Amino acid sequence: MRALRLLDWKKPAELVEVPQPVPGPGQVVIKVGGAGACHSDLHLMHDFTAGQLPWGPPFTLGHETAGWVHRLGPGVTGLAEGTPVAVYGAWGCGSCDRCRLGAESYCDHPAEAPVPSGGGGLGLDGGMAEYLLVPDARHLVPLPPGLDPLHAAPLTDAGLTPYHAIRRSWPKLTPRSTALVIGVGGLGHLAVQILKATTAARVIAVDLRKDALDLARQFGADLVLSAEDNPAEAIRDATGGHGADVVLDFVGSDDTLALAAGTVRGLGDLTLVGIGGGTLPLSFFSTPYEVSIQTTYWGTRPELVEVLDLAARGMLTPQICRFALSEAVTAYDEMRAGELQGRAVVVP
Ligand code: NAD
Ligand code: ZN
Ligand code: ZN
Repeated sequence: MRALRLLDWKKPAELVEVPQPVPGPGQVVIKVGGAGACHSDLHLMHDFTAGQLPWGPPFTLGHETAGWVHRLGPGVTGLAEGTPVAVYGAWGCGSCDRCRLGAESYCDHPAEAPVPSGGGGLGLDGGMAEYLLVPDARHLVPLPPGLDPLHAAPLTDAGLTPYHAIRRSWPKLTPRSTALVIGVGGLGHLAVQILKATTAARVIAVDLRKDALDLARQFGADLVLSAEDNPAEAIRDATGGHGADVVLDFVGSDDTLALAAGTVRGLGDLTLVGIGGGTLPLSFFSTPYEVSIQTTYWGTRPELVEVLDLAARGMLTPQICRFALSEAVTAYDEMRAGELQGRAVVVP
């Protein structure tokens, strides 16, 4: 079968022939219906080098995948061939406290996981191929009626990651509060929708690209601001001088972190999701009092069930640019050039 593989660090991925996987005991092979192209894959191709991550090439890319159950390994019960499923992509040890709660991205025993702090497309073979080997049936979530694998695929990361970041801040997202979304790409355009669907907070979105701001507006952002137009002042003006109660940074550069720190309100949350490599100096007076600053990595399996439910009910709609597997390299080129709106999904 064909697969888009990262063969080495600092090299674009390549489409190559690999053997079709065969499920072992407890494992499942799915026929891929869609695999989302995440900006993290661009970081893998262009930014990371050997030794920075606990795993490395070669492996097949694609950590947001949905499809249909193709072949069950010996001993797998409760799943029928042909069932449409989303893949929960963080594959932990499966037996620690965190994994038992479904928070496998925060597995306590990463050394006992199939790959430490990764999953399919992140150290192990992922979904940018015709078939995907899933090492344990627990990673599969059957799709609710009304949701197909093409639309479910980006929800497993571009949907789940902002959902997790927003959900943990729900108590601060009251009808009187403001959420700021920085970067309205694959994750950010779903973040705007998740904020709108699950809270009554005002939503401000910031991006460098007009297309991205148009998308934010289309999905209900109350105010959209160009990152090049002194957005900090406009954000303070729009919030009575207070700033935003919850700031979600889906870029993570020095510039966006400075914007986040300069616009977050006291007692607020500043959540860094983007892996842009920027830093934020922290000292007693660097942010308003009692601002909580955190990174988040992916989300939990129960949260994925909630995200899929929101989508099946029409409250969350990924904006999809569809590419054939033979065009997967183009999808990443367009993402790198800032030419995509929403999420690129590769369909083998
Ligand atoms: P994307 O390329 O689809 O979107 C990024 C958006 O940010 C684009 O619209 C771009 O125009 C905008 N942008 C870039 N620089 C900006 C700036 N200075 N100010 C405002 N907007 C700016 O990327 P994505 O797939 O949505 O991923 C976003 C980031 O999140 C990446 O760094 C990715 O690696 C990371 N990520 C993290 C997790 C996690 O669990 N923490 C999960 C998935 C992705
Ligand atoms: Zn990702
Ligand atoms: Zn674990």
